[in-house]
Amino acid sequence: MGLPSLWLDWCAVTGHDPDERDEDRVAEFTRQAHPSRAVLRALTQPDAGHHAAPDAPAWPRDADGKPAPSLGQTLAALCWVGRDGLRTHWPHLLRARRDAYLMVLLAPTCPVDDGGGGLGLSRGAALDLAPAGLRPLRDRIQVADDPASCPACAVHRWLHVAGLYAAWSLASVRSLVNTRLDLDTHACGHMPGVGAGLRAADPEPEWETARTLLPAIDQHGAFDFWRPMSTRAVTSILALRTTEALYAAPPAAEHDREPLAPVDRHFTDDEVREVFDEADEVNARLKALLDDTEGLLPRRAKDL
Ligand SMILES: [Zn+2]
Repeated sequence: MGLPSLWLDWCAVTGHDPDERDEDRVAEFTRQAHPSRAVLRALTQPDAGHHAAPDAPAWPRDADGKPAPSLGQTLAALCWVGRDGLRTHWPHLLRARRDAYLMVLLAPTCPVDDGGGGLGLSRGAALDLAPAGLRPLRDRIQVADDPASCPACAVHRWLHVAGLYAAWSLASVRSLVNTRLDLDTHACGHMPGVGAGLRAADPEPEWETARTLLPAIDQHGAFDFWRPMSTRAVTSILALRTTEALYAAPPAAEHDREPLAPVDRHFTDDEVREVFDEADEVNARLKALLDDTEGLLPRRAKDL
């Protein structure tokens, strides 16, 4: 097996090289992250890390017998953003599209029915993925029968934004994201029951001229494709979006969708601390979400 995910997360947050595991570094890690003995053992094995990169190293794992959120569940929750009448400020809708794309990059490569459908990239590989790198990978991004949880649709929608911005303006992007998503048909062109079919052409192919496809987006919705997100922001957003997927119930208007059953959270204290150490706009929203679900989370929410 490769390096433990807690170690990789800690290195991403602190900016350390995961392959440098000298005594002082491991001691600092132990002090800050309180790893289990098993994690420390894995770190000190001589061959640790000298393996192929694991599939989806950043994606949450099953823990304490509870399943990790699936990619489809996470994408569907992102489609609900703006449908509850509360979070319709357009930068939220813009970030939801970007984050859906990010989730596809980070999610496991197993079949969609097993919770995957993504590209299984690490945070660093996702941030480094330029248009030229994405092009040959698009065929590996899977489709799901439900357009709301379809990985190919999520990518298609974000590339539409990216292309529109490259070719036109922020005003045109704003107009696009303010348009209610059509969740009855696939933006990606997939037709359930027809089998592997044609993918729809990109409405704005200029996305290929972008420098980065994961730009930072400020509170006013401003962004440019020369200013990528930080690795720490990716960590925070992944925690936020997968947590939202587990706890956020669909809005009343979507009553035809099955509501998600409340579940006990299974993020570790370290993961939660990592999220809250990040001075990023998503943290306030994650805290608000956790406060809302405090009744479900009697053990941890009060400690945050
Ligand atoms: Zn689709």
